[in-house]
Amino acid sequence: MMKQANGNEIIQLFESWSPKKLACMENDPIGLAIGTLNKVVTKVLVTLDVNQEVADEAIEKGCQLIIAHHPPIFRKLSNLRTDTPSGRLYEKLLKNDIAVYAAHTNLDVAEGGVNDLLADALQLQNREILEKTYSEHLMKLAVFVPDEHADELRYVLAKAGAGKIGNYDSCSYSTDGKGRFRPLEGANPYIGDVGEIEVTDEEKIEVVFPTSMKNRILKAMLNAHPYEEPAYDLYTLAQETNEYGIGRIGILKEPMSLRQFADYVKKRLQVPMVRIVGNENSTVSKVAVLGGDGNKYIHIAKRAGADVFVTGDMYFHVAQEAQAIGLNIVDPGHHVEKVMIKGVKEKMTSLCKENKLDVEFIESEVNTEPFIFI
Ligand SMILES: [Zn+2]
Repeated sequence: MMKQANGNEIIQLFESWSPKKLACMENDPIGLAIGTLNKVVTKVLVTLDVNQEVADEAIEKGCQLIIAHHPPIFRKLSNLRTDTPSGRLYEKLLKNDIAVYAAHTNLDVAEGGVNDLLADALQLQNREILEKTYSEHLMKLAVFVPDEHADELRYVLAKAGAGKIGNYDSCSYSTDGKGRFRPLEGANPYIGDVGEIEVTDEEKIEVVFPTSMKNRILKAMLNAHPYEEPAYDLYTLAQETNEYGIGRIGILKEPMSLRQFADYVKKRLQVPMVRIVGNENSTVSKVAVLGGDGNKYIHIAKRAGADVFVTGDMYFHVAQEAQAIGLNIVDPGHHVEKVMIKGVKEKMTSLCKENKLDVEFIESEVNTEPFIFI
């Protein structure tokens, strides 16, 4: 049975995929920008940008929520006048009870987000992150449990998500030993008597998990443990996990000339033109890609060994610098980020279906590319 969805439930699922903590730009104005999520949502419009035409489209198609990549309120407002273009846009959205939620650099970084979608479109193999922007430390829990409860506790910990290492789950390590304790006045011991020292056969179970899972794992362990006062050690490890980052780098299925690659980019990213920097006859195989404005990343792309860097909004002087360091550039424009429209629609449709939420995601058909190529 599918159930009616609330805006908050939809965004909770969205953030389980593309959490706000992944945003890698200072003060990136992500999250709910306009309106409220405390309402029933049956239709969501997915768009790269929000402008008057997109707002009209949302009204016409009966959407109560817009998910956009570019935040509609990017700089701090000092007034809210309805005689300015942006003021009129906010007025229209509010009057029609349309909420806008923005996922900007967090969606660039997320697995399956903008940069992965671009790398998918270019069919990059052996893909890696171009620049790491987020990671967390592993933690270890060592818990002492009577032998007869060890299997159950191992199961509970694994079910809560502890002990996942690479392509393995349910990983744990156990050692046998003796637990000693003396229940004091007021205790209600699972084993032993008040005032008597008790010695029991116990196992020490050790599991690892990312720091962000700490509360969930501890809660599961405390609920499943038979003792009134479970004994456990919890500590942070030096190892890092859950690495995320911006941009992707990978290998083309077949090496090609820069000129051929430029045509390939046009076709694969569906753009009418690209600008290139570099020798058209040079061979390219290793490709770095970063959606939006990647001016700051040319040296990172070069260091990572890219033959060519695909990114938008390339400045004149940065293009000259790329030329000087011997990095080929293909600039397909900023609008290639439109790949997120289909990507977000498909991901959210499947997440909502899995969670039995009755909501339809609609791809915006408005072209928000301001440039005309003549
Ligand atoms: Zn962008």
